[in-house]
Order: sequence, then structure tokens, then C-alpha cells
Amino acid sequence: TAEIPTISEKTLSSILEKNRTYYTQGKVADYIPELGKMDAKAIAFSVVEKNGRVLNVGDVYKKFTMQSISKIVALMIAVKENGEAGVFDKMGYFGTDQPFNHFSNLETTGKPLNPMMNAGAILTTSLISGEGEKPFLKILDMVRYITGNQTIEYNTSVYQSEKSTGHRNRGMFYLMKNNGLISGNEDQLDNYFKQCSIELTAEDLAKIGYFFANDCIRFDGDDRYKNAEMSRLILSQMLIAGMYEFSGEYARTVGLPSKSGVGGGITVSVPGKMGIGVFSPALDKHGNSAAGYHMILDLARQYDLSLF
Ligand code: GLN
Repeated sequence: TAEIPTISEKTLSSILEKNRTYYTQGKVADYIPELGKMDAKAIAFSVVEKNGRVLNVGDVYKKFTMQSISKIVALMIAVKENGEAGVFDKMGYFGTDQPFNHFSNLETTGKPLNPMMNAGAILTTSLISGEGEKPFLKILDMVRYITGNQTIEYNTSVYQSEKSTGHRNRGMFYLMKNNGLISGNEDQLDNYFKQCSIELTAEDLAKIGYFFANDCIRFDGDDRYKNAEMSRLILSQMLIAGMYEFSGEYARTVGLPSKSGVGGGITVSVPGKMGIGVFSPALDKHGNSAAGYHMILDLARQYDLSLF
């Protein structure tokens, strides 16, 4: 594989500045009322390069909730515990033309399309072993490990806000219980709401992107979870459904496995090379960060990062 030129903070800064105003083309998510309080103008851009070097520009200390980005970490743990077949006999590997909170295929085949949309992700989390909050704590611990950031916590106000308004997610949970896919009680749904409420920075996201880009080896070289097959699985799901119904077009324009969250974050994996984390809370109509997308697009074009 070709070497990539070293990226400078100056380059990142100029890409950020060029795209700063894209937030005006999006809207901060407010279907979870607590998320509606985010500052639409906040913006951050981080890269972790092959040697573990971290570059950060913009609102580098700004924390936001990881939301759907937590789904890739939950998937890793569920597959570690149940094997890939133990997870994917309950859901598909399908891409989608539907938004993240769509019920598709729960009323037809009975099984979620994939682990990146809400239904599949709620099911994935329910497959992690342990009573009560234990499965959530495993996800939190893994996020702390991957980022090397032990201070990461979840935001209890966002969690409460998701729990009290997440009726669609609750509907999916009970439909999957009805379909015999979920056996536990609503604690399992709470674990999903909690994982979505984990708060971190763009740098933390870049480190998550790096981890899955590098066979589950951490940015500092720690390889206790090294697993090339796991990375292949996670990256393939990110590529086909990580940006929901926009994933196909995104594969065409950016061409990199990525996962977005409605908190405004996107984590990107450049396989074998680097991790990218962006944050800007105003979302486009697909639920992906509007300015975040454009920053990633510019970086990918400038450094020819597309896989294709
Ligand atoms: N917690 C959000 C939800 O369940 C996550 C969705 C997302 O980030 N796309 O609606």
C-alpha cells in the first residue's frame, strides 16, 4: 500500500475553516430533547496517524455523545462473546435505503437488516452477557480502552432524555422480543440508551477509527485485542451501513468505512493507515453531520484516501 504524506495541523485547519459554515445547511437533532441544546457552531477535526501521532484542530475539548458510533464497539463485544454466527443468525448483513430508526425487516423476515441501524444495534447490545447495567459497562470500558481515556463517562441527562422519549426504539425492542430475538427485560434497552449517551471528543473518535483500521490494535501499539477478522467485519458494516441510507453515495464520494452518530460525530477508518474523528452537531437530512461530512470529503480527496 502506498505511503500517505504526513498531514499537518495547518492542512486540517484550512479544511476546517473552509467547511465551518456548512453547519447552516444542517440542523441539530432535537428529537432527543437534550441533544437540541448543543451549540450548532461547535466544530472539531482530529486525525491519528500510523505512528499514533495525534492532530487536533477546532473545539478540541468539546464533548458530545457518541450515539450510533457506540454500535461498532457493541458489535465487537457481542461478536467476541457469541461468535459472528451467533450474532448474524439474528440479523442481516444488508445495506439499507432506510433511515436509522426504520423498522425494516422486523415485520417481514422478522430480523433487523444490520447491526448499524437502531433495531440491529438494540439487539446486538442485548446479546452482550451480564445482568442489569453490566453489558453497558463492558461497552464503556472498551471505549475507555480503545481511546486510552479513562475519564470517559456517559451523560446522564442525555440518557434520561433518550429513555423518556425513545418510544420508537422501545417499539422495536418489544417487536424483537415478540419475534423471539430478545429474551431479557427493558434493562437491555436502557443499556442501548446509555451507550448512546457516552460522551467523548473528536480525538477519542479518531482513536476508535484508528483501532478498527488497524486490526484492533490501539493507537499506542497495545495489541491485546488484535484481531484482523474482527476489523474486517466491523469495517464492512461501517462501509455498507455506517452512514445509513447515505452509505452508498458516501462510498462513492469518500470511499472509507465510517460511522456517524446523531450527536454530530463521525468516526472514519482508513484501513492500515489512520483514524479520523470529526464533530459538528448540525445534521443533514440523513442524520449525518453536515460539516463533518464535508471535512472528511476534503481530506479524503486531498490525500487520495478512498479505498477505490
Ligand atoms: N440514540 C439515537 C437513537 O436511538 C442513536 C441514533 C443515531 O445516532 N443515529 O435514536
